[in-house]
Amino acid sequence: MTRISTAQSQRHRITVRGTVQGVGFRPFVHQVAGDLALGGWVKNVGSTVLIEVEGQPSGLHSFREMLENHPPRLANVDQISTVQLDAVGYRGFEILRSEKSLDEKVLVTPDAAACADCLAEIADPAARRYGYAFTNCTNCGPRFTIVADIPYDRINTTMAPFSMCADCQAEYHDPNDRRFHAQPICCPACGPTLSLVKASRQSLGGNALQEAATLLRDNKVVAIKGLGGFHLAVLANSELAVNRLRARKHREDKPFAVMVCDLEAAQALCEVSDTEAALLSSPARPIVLLSRRANAGIASGVAPLTSDLGLILPYTPLHSLLLDAVGGPIVLTSGNVSDEPIAFHDQEAEEQLGGIADAFLTHNRGIRTRTDDSVVRVVAGSAMTVRRSRGYVPNPIQLPVEARRPILACGAELKNTITFARGNQALLSHHIGDLKNLETYNSFLGAVEHFERLFGIIPEVVAHDLHPGYLSTSFAQELSGVDLVAVQHHHAHIGACMVDNDHSDPVIGVAFDGLGYGSDGTMWGGEFLVADLLDFERMAWFEPVPLLGGDAVMSEPWRMAAAYLDLLGEAESPDVEVALRQPRWNDVVRLASSDLAGPPTSSVGRLFDAIAALVGVRDVVNYEGQAAVELEQIVDPHETDAYSARFDGNNTFTVRGSDFVASALADLRGGVDKRRIAARFHRGLAETVVAACDRVRETGGPQTVALSGGVFLNKVLLEHVIAGLEEKQFHVLSHRRVPPNDGCISLGQAAVAAARD
Ligand code: ZN
Ligand code: ZN
Ligand code: FE
Repeated sequence: MTRISTAQSQRHRITVRGTVQGVGFRPFVHQVAGDLALGGWVKNVGSTVLIEVEGQPSGLHSFREMLENHPPRLANVDQISTVQLDAVGYRGFEILRSEKSLDEKVLVTPDAAACADCLAEIADPAARRYGYAFTNCTNCGPRFTIVADIPYDRINTTMAPFSMCADCQAEYHDPNDRRFHAQPICCPACGPTLSLVKASRQSLGGNALQEAATLLRDNKVVAIKGLGGFHLAVLANSELAVNRLRARKHREDKPFAVMVCDLEAAQALCEVSDTEAALLSSPARPIVLLSRRANAGIASGVAPLTSDLGLILPYTPLHSLLLDAVGGPIVLTSGNVSDEPIAFHDQEAEEQLGGIADAFLTHNRGIRTRTDDSVVRVVAGSAMTVRRSRGYVPNPIQLPVEARRPILACGAELKNTITFARGNQALLSHHIGDLKNLETYNSFLGAVEHFERLFGIIPEVVAHDLHPGYLSTSFAQELSGVDLVAVQHHHAHIGACMVDNDHSDPVIGVAFDGLGYGSDGTMWGGEFLVADLLDFERMAWFEPVPLLGGDAVMSEPWRMAAAYLDLLGEAESPDVEVALRQPRWNDVVRLASSDLAGPPTSSVGRLFDAIAALVGVRDVVNYEGQAAVELEQIVDPHETDAYSARFDGNNTFTVRGSDFVASALADLRGGVDKRRIAARFHRGLAETVVAACDRVRETGGPQTVALSGGVFLNKVLLEHVIAGLEEKQFHVLSHRRVPPNDGCISLGQAAVAAARD
């Protein structure tokens, strides 16, 4: 019997590529081979996993099937190649020591939410990690946020100061343990500890977690140290606590995110589709923007002026334990003051948040890289990223073109990210933020250095925006010994959307955003480009209107209403309410005919401002994009009419945005409800996009349309545009893994630079 089976034995040498290191792949292979009674070995070679496995063909088949279809939770298998060899009579299965080749760097993986095994362990009174807030294993836990250097070993993480106890050592070295080579492994005997510090700097004894829960239940504001920085928390169903947080944080009406204990609790507050449920419980654990139920048990101050609600499930054992102790949902918002980036060092947090938080629930495990929560929403049935950060970074994104030399792309000014590219891989950084803030600019500089070190990339080509005033542009221009590539802002948007969809053929790129520097020195933002990754042609754009008053235009939408109404000859009409509300209306209108008007803009984001102010939704904003967000919120879903806009020109043409403003004004005068006006504007704008794309296609343009720019965060608009384009047989690309807003600019710049090099 034994002899027969030996005769039938085969040996396979299998190479596995992808995210397969630091994710428990070798113990998994060891386990599977053991279960199937196969002999051989597994080891890491460079960034791949090499396996030799020997046994009966049916066993080898099952083995391969497990590799393909049931890899460890955090692994991402890109490719499996197999070579058949003669059997050599392996006995048993071993994990061999790694061979590290110098030219191949092991990728650091993203932080991952606590796995079911770890959660079961902390809930088990008999387990030694019962109630322990820092429990993790190879399938979960901190990664990117704690890594200081490569290789990804404990010594190069913020876990370095903690030396493993004998029990943890044993688990770490046991190939059959799910903590085999888990770098952040720890337990109550040897790992980080929680502490609760009152704002008065008095450290409280007792159980920090229970104390924090008590304070929260008592309507207090508690700062909580998470994976990528500090959050501020209050009880989500307490009007008093939420208002207290808003008042202290000087955050007037920007919605807060809410952490709920599980999916069931999420479903009690919001409508949750299967796609949304999968996102909520994915290892990346992002904030998911959902539609709130009418009777949701949440304080009205959590997300005023919107029926959306951002929900997130606990992603560390600390969060799970805290939610259990509190017994209800909590607001969990970035620990920062207005425009500052999220605080992530203890001392900095105490200084910045001391006036906001009543207490700090903190711990002694350091955070190496400040990383915000990611944000996603489901549009037209698929996930669209709004902010790509914790849980997704630094997963590489495949480029449809090869970067011949290493590239650094410096991104935009607001919602900045950076991208490093080499070969076919783009490494898009975490959300960095608004570079005009000094602290954020410093973290931009830090991120450039950190990525260079982590991924061993020394850029030879540096891509930047055309805008001469962006700090990211001056940063690039001051570097020496590199080749610079300037990429127009909206070309970068469309390039990013193409990369996001792994597309490299020419597209009609529709780029609608706030403001971006155009090739002609005016401010673009309502563009129809025929583009590939190499270059673009501007085929159509919204009719330019003057920016009345420089930077003030960004925060005062009523100025855009003034610009459009002036264009229509209606600025002085006595029945325009927005004019009556604004004491400086006439002065601002006069700017239009003076030398003081800013450059003209074709921005659709600014057209939204004009309509929002005209109908009385919002004259002045507290955060970027607020006017458009609130206009979208009031859209009457039952409205069937739509405005239209004329086109001027032939092969290249302009879209008369002022036609929308004129129609809205006429409806206002006719007493039409503003909800219907908002709906007619959204529907009309979508129809205009479809008509303009149709016209570009008629003149020989491509069949594929790529939609990018912050305006396409608008779900009502995006769904109408996608439906309209598909009805006309267009192939539509919209954003999925990277956001349509300026968070995608660095990725687009990198792709264009790679194509041009
Ligand atoms: Zn785990
Ligand atoms: Zn231990
Ligand atoms: Fe933009």
